[in-house]
Amino acid sequence: MEKTCETCAHFYRHYVKFGYRYGPVAAGHCGTPRRKLRWKDTPACPRYKERPGS
Ligand code: SF4
Repeated sequence: MEKTCETCAHFYRHYVKFGYRYGPVAAGHCGTPRRKLRWKDTPACPRYKERPGS
């Protein structure tokens, strides 16, 4: 299976509020080496580091 940002330890998922609850969206950000917008399906870059438990 292709590695993507979704399972990378550097990926921080964004959440939006639906009524009283928060739900995950496809977007997030990566702070390595600088903060930038990424999608969960973005193919992993050379800095990929597997998130523990994924
Ligand atoms: S851009 Fe690279 S380092 Fe950042 S979350 Fe995606 S795979 Fe990880």
